[in-house]
Amino acid sequence: MVDRYDAIAIGSGLGGLTAGALYAHAGKRVLLLERNTSFGGAATTYRHGAMTVEGSLHETPDPRHTPDPKAAAFEALDLYDDIEFVRAPNIYEVRGRAIGPPFVLPYGFEAIQAALTARFPRHETNIRRFLRHVRRAQKALDYLGGGHDALWRMAHAAELPLELWAVIRDFRSTVSEVFERFFGDDEAIKIALAANVHYYTDDPDKLWWLVFALSQGGYLEGGGSFIKGGSQRLSDRLVKAIVDEGGVAKSGCEVFCVELDDTGRASGVRYRAEETGPEKTAEAPVIFANAAPHAVVKMLPEETRQEFMMPYRERPLSISLAYAAFGLNRPPSELGMTHYATNLLPDWVRKLSDYKHSADVLAEAPGDRMPVLAVVDYNRIDSGIRGDGLYPVSADCLDQISNWADLDREAYDARKKAWLSAILACLDQEWPGFADAVSESTFATARSMRNHLNTPDGAVYGFAPPARGRMGSPIHVETSVPGLWLASAFSGGGGYPGAMNGGASAARAALKEGT
Ligand SMILES: Cc1cc2nc3c(=O)[nH]c(=O)nc-3n(C[C@H](O)[C@H](O)[C@H](O)COP(=O)(O)OP(=O)(O)OC[C@H]3O[C@@H](n4cnc5c(N)ncnc54)[C@H](O)[C@@H]3O)c2cc1C
Repeated sequence: MVDRYDAIAIGSGLGGLTAGALYAHAGKRVLLLERNTSFGGAATTYRHGAMTVEGSLHETPDPRHTPDPKAAAFEALDLYDDIEFVRAPNIYEVRGRAIGPPFVLPYGFEAIQAALTARFPRHETNIRRFLRHVRRAQKALDYLGGGHDALWRMAHAAELPLELWAVIRDFRSTVSEVFERFFGDDEAIKIALAANVHYYTDDPDKLWWLVFALSQGGYLEGGGSFIKGGSQRLSDRLVKAIVDEGGVAKSGCEVFCVELDDTGRASGVRYRAEETGPEKTAEAPVIFANAAPHAVVKMLPEETRQEFMMPYRERPLSISLAYAAFGLNRPPSELGMTHYATNLLPDWVRKLSDYKHSADVLAEAPGDRMPVLAVVDYNRIDSGIRGDGLYPVSADCLDQISNWADLDREAYDARKKAWLSAILACLDQEWPGFADAVSESTFATARSMRNHLNTPDGAVYGFAPPARGRMGSPIHVETSVPGLWLASAFSGGGGYPGAMNGGASAARAALKEGT
């Protein structure tokens, strides 16, 4: 028996879910196949004993406050009715020797100007110029990005020359170069403005300024938000959108083959519900590959593989992350945690570009160096993920597969345990009493990401951000195999906005081809 559908999504990360949901919304019958036992890929929220663990989300822009590629899918699928964004009161606090006394970065350009000027008065003029420069680049990129109709463009065309200049001026600049121009060698103000740069990359010396200006500009303007109930709420809502339109969503099903017809067009998949279980077949003229291209290539006939991988050969992968999740038996505010997100800089970080060494720290058992930690206290906002369980707190850091790949199971578990203890001790030093309050904890590494997401080297944002000065659209949903579309962070850019953008673009392209 062969099952027939209008489209099949391989993987239920946000890109696959968005593509599937939008295609279903257009009246198509979609089959969603996910190899894990739960849907969502990185966008999952799960229980670990009495603790809730948010698998990824710290912050994402609320599309209603700032231009955001998530907006198209939210509007088309009426997601605002069910998905509530809870905005954090500020973007982050940053602590560490390199910044001096802790600094809190608020959102909103005026509030940021005031907070930075109060802390760094000698830079008052350059702070204003810098923020204006970010804003102009952000606006120009929004204008050029294709998210607006002709009427909107005509109405805003008069503002364009100055804004375009902000893009042209720094078309070939890195984040470090632009910071240097505005703030010289004052590393404290650079860290105050970009302590979360590890949300994008490990190396501000290489990160293209325009990528940073667009994404960080969104946070500076409208702040960062959490999805009430956790990222699983969004993933489940997108699954529902597929099923409500007559589609089918199956977890625990690993796709191992993409079938092509006589013309070379994708025509279906073969998958297994259990490792040793019987093979199943499903047919569809459209396949949305949410799995990474590096996983999809192994599903294709040998003779098509080289051409399929050609566009991705030269593209480096994004960073990976590790996280420690803790469940506390009392509110972290009682221990002095005052902010939703706190970036903890170890003493060896003296300048922003030192972030590039953070992932290396996990290559050894804990010693005298800690990685840069992004600590999130989900209890500071109405996050809705605690239920009646423990108070969840997470601490994320940059990681890389080489830190863990060669360890056998025993050595891997021992190193994980040691790092979990070291991070706990670090948080206890910062917030005395933290360790005593912890009832549950767990630690995930780049290797966990690789195994859970089936991404090469545990990359969590698809490919690395485009190199500076790169012309052309960063969205690449089309593949060398007709009917097979990439719908993920690998095709739309990293993070929630990028993955949903990849999915929405893939659905649009497939619909356009079908008309
Ligand atoms: C710890 C962490 C923190 C993060 N924090 C943030 C944040 O605060 N803000 C933000 O915007 N982004 C954040 N991100 C990044 C963001 O979560 C990801 O970029 C995004 O969710 C990736 O979505 P995706 O669609 O590319 O697919 P993924 O989430 O990578 O999912 C791919 C799915 O495909 C499935 N799959 C693979 N192969 C097969 C197969 N053969 N058969 C069936 N299924 C298959 C996998 O099992 C997986 O479920 C974070 C990520 C992590 C890990």
